[in-house]
Formats: sequence, structure tokens, C-alpha cells
Amino acid sequence: MTARRLPTGGARRRHDSTIPPGSAVAPEDRIIGDTGPAEGPLVVAIGSVHGNEPAGTRALERIFDEIERDGYRFAGRLIGLRGNMRARRRGRRFITRDLNRSWTSAGLTALLAHDRGQADDPCADQDEDCEQRELLEVLVPLLASAKQPIVFLDLHSSSGEGPPFCCMADVLRNRPIAFGVPIPVILGLEEVIDGALIGYLTDLGHCGVAFEGGPHFAPDTVDNHLAILWCTLVNVGLVEAAHVPHIDAHRQRLADATAGVPRVIEIRHRHVIQPEDEFVMHPGYENFQPIARGEHVADDRHGPVEAPEEGLMLLPLYQGQGDDGYFVGRPINKFWLNLSAKMRSDTIDRLFPALPGVHRDPNRSDCYLVDPRIARYRTTEIFHLFGYRRSRSHGDLLAFSRRRPDFEALDALPPELAPLLTD
Ligand SMILES: [Zn+2]
Repeated sequence: MTARRLPTGGARRRHDSTIPPGSAVAPEDRIIGDTGPAEGPLVVAIGSVHGNEPAGTRALERIFDEIERDGYRFAGRLIGLRGNMRARRRGRRFITRDLNRSWTSAGLTALLAHDRGQADDPCADQDEDCEQRELLEVLVPLLASAKQPIVFLDLHSSSGEGPPFCCMADVLRNRPIAFGVPIPVILGLEEVIDGALIGYLTDLGHCGVAFEGGPHFAPDTVDNHLAILWCTLVNVGLVEAAHVPHIDAHRQRLADATAGVPRVIEIRHRHVIQPEDEFVMHPGYENFQPIARGEHVADDRHGPVEAPEEGLMLLPLYQGQGDDGYFVGRPINKFWLNLSAKMRSDTIDRLFPALPGVHRDPNRSDCYLVDPRIARYRTTEIFHLFGYRRSRSHGDLLAFSRRRPDFEALDALPPELAPLLTD
């Protein structure tokens, strides 16, 4: 199986260009930099998947400037990509739909089932359809030729104040990447947000960590992302720490910025909003700020919005676009994580059907259905321990499915990407 090759063109570093209305962005314009094919790990970092978040793209431009200036030799390959370029130009999170919410089998099947269309065709591609197709043009050849897990880094920033942190799906292969950077790690965000790019790529068997660098327009946010990038390149073995002049300063910057924040936090609550809710967050909340149960954190047209449990405030919404009002997190003990790493064997989850209120999904062998009225123990925690994630929309039942535990050489891309393959 082959896919269109990634254009190389010899250019290591490209600057933004304008996108005339109705025209496509060539893959080489989406590529901020590419150190070129090499034996070893492949790291693909993406900035500005949300168009109002320039810091990740800036940090990638800077790291390629440094790589070019200082002449690093890498034991592997780094590619930097621009995310939502059309929204970026307009300073908006997105134009017609959130580019970080439709990376699902169903979403991609729907996108690739129709032609791009003409400008006067009502079915013609909207801005984010173009963006997603163009990103796929770059990503699919890499996915199709991967012999080992690709390390995907998605660089974000937030509308509220607060220190950097990262989010990962808790598969073991993600842990060294997330925990290798001295910032807090958030677990479980992918369970409450469907269609995130990083979640999709992780489900294909690759590694994926989303990094939040800080507030959208703070200069520190660019520096934080630059530090995150260098730390990660060292962690995955692309470059030796001794060859990166400021690596200790990068690590120290991140440690200082996150001092006093718990190291591992799990998502306990997501406040979903609709545009007609007229949701307004109370001013002044920062990431990781402690909040009490019942605290009046926002208002909408139904009245006060109160936190359903005590915990830490995460990603309070202070921008016009977005469907998440805020999240509540809770610190978890690293002992629990270490225990769960030891317990992820195929045999031990045969115990699940013996638990009261748990049975295997008749339609999916890798999925269990749990009746919360019968299963009164700490169901979610137990399933997390064994590498399962909670999914939703099964009526009164909770559904847990196995996260893809190991990478297998991708001799076949998932069926939804097949239309992008050529002979
Ligand atoms: Zn974002």
C-alpha cells in the first residue's frame, strides 16, 4: 500500500503566505519546517489547530530557526505543521466548525465521501473541510509509511490565565512523552471531548499529547512551547541533551511556571454549553484554581452555574467560541498510575464480567457495559486502572472500551482514510 509522498522540496522553513479565497493551501505551505527523512523517531508537531492560538505556530517557527542556525544533527525527524490556517488569518478559533472536534471515523468518512465541490455548490467544502483535507494530505503519507509509533504533539493555548500543562489519553506509550516534560498531566479529557486530532491519532496506535502553553497572547506561552518542544525532542531521543545549549533553562522554566500544581489530574466534570445558553464565566478564574462544590462560577440564561463538586478549575471559557464552559479536575496519586501500568495485561480483564452489573457488549468484544444502579463500586477508577476509557451515549448504561494498547505496524490505514491512498 502506498500513499502520496510528502513533498520535500528541500525547504526547511517556510513563512506564512496569504490564502486567496477559494484556493487550496499546498502541503508545503502548511509545513513550517521539516528536518528531512532520517532513521529514528518521527515527531510531528502542530500549532494553531485553533486559529486564535498563535503561540504554538510561533514556537515551531522559532525552533526551526534555531535548528537551521545552530546546525543540529537529529537521530530522527521533526516536522512542524500549521493547523487551521484560514481561521488563523482571521484570528478566530474556527470559521464554520471546530477543527479539533471532527477527527472521528464517521466525520472523516463523511468528509471524504464527497468532492470538494464548486464555490456555488451548497455541498462545497467549508473552510474547515478544506483545512482537514489539506492536513490529511500531509498526515496520511506519514501514517501509511510508519514503522513505529509517530509522536504527535498538538500545541494549544487557553483563553484563561494559568501555567502550562498537557493532556493525554492514558495509554502506556504516551506516558514517557507526557511525563518527560516537567508540567502537570491531565487525564481523561479525551473521554469527554469527541473528535480531537490527538485522540484520533492515539487510537490509530500512535503517541499523542496535547500541550497547553498558557494564555493565548502572553509572550511566555511561546517560550513555554519552545521549552516543551526541546524537552520532548530530548526525551524521545531525537537529540542528546548535551547538544541542546539551553535544555536546563527550558526545563527550569517549565518547573518554575508550574510550581505548586499537582503533577497528575483527572477530569471529573465538563460543563457543555450551547450558543443559545448565553454562558458567561465569572471573571478571574485561572487554570488549577481550587473551587468548592456549589461555587457559583458562571451564569447562563437559566441562572447561576454552580460547580457540581470541589476540585481544580480547568479551561474556563473567556472567548466567544467553544462548546466547553469549564472543566473540574481532581489530583490523582502517581502510585495509582504506577499500579495501573503493572496491571494492564490481557488476562486480568477477564475478571470484569465477574463484577456485579458488568457485562460484555454483545456488539463489541473490546467494550463492556456497566449498569451504575448495580455496580456501586468505583467503576470508572477500576476501568481506568486496566486501560479502558469511558465512552458515552448508551442510555442508562456506562460504556467502557479498551484504548488501543500497543502499536502494530500499520499495514492498513483505517477504512475511512482509504480514499486518500493511491496505487
Ligand atoms: Zn486550542
